[in-house]
Amino acid sequence: MLQRAVRMYCVKGMREFKVDDSNRSVWRLICRRHTQGCRWLLRGIAKPDGLWEITKFHPKHTCDMGQSRADHCNLDINMIAHVLLKHIEETPRMPIKTCISMVHSKYGKIISKRKGFLGRRRAFEMIFWAFKPSIDGFAHCKNVISIDGTHVYGRYDIKLLIAVGMDANGSIFPLAFAIAANESNETWGMFLTHLQTHVIKGRQGICVLSDRHKGILHNMRTLEGWQPPHAYHRYCLRHLKVNLQTKFENGTVNKLM
Ligand SMILES: [Zn+2]
Repeated sequence: MLQRAVRMYCVKGMREFKVDDSNRSVWRLICRRHTQGCRWLLRGIAKPDGLWEITKFHPKHTCDMGQSRADHCNLDINMIAHVLLKHIEETPRMPIKTCISMVHSKYGKIISKRKGFLGRRRAFEMIFWAFKPSIDGFAHCKNVISIDGTHVYGRYDIKLLIAVGMDANGSIFPLAFAIAANESNETWGMFLTHLQTHVIKGRQGICVLSDRHKGILHNMRTLEGWQPPHAYHRYCLRHLKVNLQTKFENGTVNKLM
């Protein structure tokens, strides 16, 4: 969220930033014209609840960006997709020219054809599907659903989100799939909403197993119909073990799990 807000702020203010330091807990930005002596700076720190706090901000630019209508380096594909989203639903094959002019009327910047193309593709956001035999079969499965996301290797940079159940023999029973541009609060929220509507259909007491991806945690806490008594969230032991192994590399701890 911080990234999106800062990008919008900088694009509207006609200033460009570059990332000076970035990891899981820190996001530090400086003006793109820092070498010319501009002292603009912003630093955000990740909080335990998943939100970001701005801990340092020097808002004054001493550099000169002019009034150029040309592209802005911080106007990224996600922001473009966000502008196009509603229109794409009505006109999936919207010409790139139209995409470019929509972004221009929103941000006053003329993006390249390539950015327009990538933004249009990103705007599709997610495709969700569940086969009827899976939907019918879930009625005879245990009250357990595992969800996970995985990277799809190939031409496109996309994620596959999956939900599987467990049949009476304890075997995996595929329930639903989605192709998404990324794993985020939004895409996991959409996935879980569709899963609830089309597969779970109000069944109570579902135990949901997953890793601790922020998008999943956020939605299991806040999305309607995913807290007790509707659903109970538990962490996948396999993921937990892998995380422990990576963090501690301790044979004894691993054997205990
Ligand atoms: Zn500056």
